Amino acid sequence: METQNTALTNIESLGEFGLIEHLTQHNTTKHITTLKSVGDDCAIIDHGNHVTAITTDMLVENVHFDLIYTPLRHLGYKAVTVNLSDVAAMNVTPTHITVSIALSSKYTLEAVEEIYAGIYLACEKYKIDLVGGDTTTSQLGLVISVTAWGDAPKEEIVYRNGASETDLLFVSGDLGAAYLGLQILEREKQVFLENKNIQPDLEGNDYILQRQLKPEPRTDVKELLRLLEIQPTSMIDVSDGISSELLHICRQSNVGCSIYEEKIPIDPTAINTARDFVLDPVTCALNGGEDYELLFSIKLSDYDKIKGNPNFTAIGHITNVSAGCNLVSNSGVVTPLIAQGWNALLKNEKVDVK
Ligand code: ADP
Ligand code: MG
Repeated sequence: METQNTALTNIESLGEFGLIEHLTQHNTTKHITTLKSVGDDCAIIDHGNHVTAITTDMLVENVHFDLIYTPLRHLGYKAVTVNLSDVAAMNVTPTHITVSIALSSKYTLEAVEEIYAGIYLACEKYKIDLVGGDTTTSQLGLVISVTAWGDAPKEEIVYRNGASETDLLFVSGDLGAAYLGLQILEREKQVFLENKNIQPDLEGNDYILQRQLKPEPRTDVKELLRLLEIQPTSMIDVSDGISSELLHICRQSNVGCSIYEEKIPIDPTAINTARDFVLDPVTCALNGGEDYELLFSIKLSDYDKIKGNPNFTAIGHITNVSAGCNLVSNSGVVTPLIAQGWNALLKNEKVDVK
């Protein structure tokens, strides 16, 4: 066979989203039942009087979790809840999951039982049926892949692409805490690796550690918004940081946005921890990720229904696409939002400090 001298492309040069786009650019759908294919938090399959929202997410040892500080029970729980978050992001209540695991020989039965204790705990809490999966071996680390789905009437589905000019942007809960929880865990890991007799100092950090290790999906938002009689125009869950998520919404809706630094909800313990690490709390909230809150837009005319609601914070509004996606600082300085994402933040820890 002749050797061809073609230049090969490094995957890293594409980035995660560039790679997905490249691999799916010629993907066509063959069934009219495929209402939504690649590109949203879930695919949407039409069954006539209702649709199914389906998603899958994989956690890989030493990429998504570090067993030095991740209890196995929490890992199982998180593997489920990050998927439930994507179903909730379509305004659908998740009902079922499958779980696939690849295990290396270092795992004992007891260890796998711990992972499953966490999986079943999440299933109990969020009323989910585990209905199948796959089990195999891995040469290196542990891999857990979960697929989750749920059904809803077609008209209730909220996509990333429905935002229009003058819509208002809201977020549930608070942002940045999960990333700061990770900073604490990473710091204590370093201390532990240097001296294995030193106990980790995790005192007073319960909230932010919980946000990192045991995230809770906002499956309650659908009902909260229904009670307010609000149907969001677009929605996405916050897995990579709201900067990145806002860019997804704006790109897919062909709009721009302005968000205001002073409006970004950050828990006081997250602010204090950011300061301890000489990090800007707002940068952590924008780019930290793994908060698993829901970011959504609503019609301006719905504002009075949600105004003052403690579950949601107005962070800005949708603009014309020509205005771009911007952050307005407390002093009125306007800067374009960039999708730094939490992986980038991790690599450049402490670079983006004010
Ligand atoms: P999320 O952060 O909401 O889980 P992702 O960023 O992982 O979403 O994925 C974005 C979109 O790309 C989703 O619609 C997802 O189903 C799709 N996707 C991701 N990886 C692949 C792949 N390898 N092949 C096909 N589609 C993919
Ligand atoms: Mg998502």
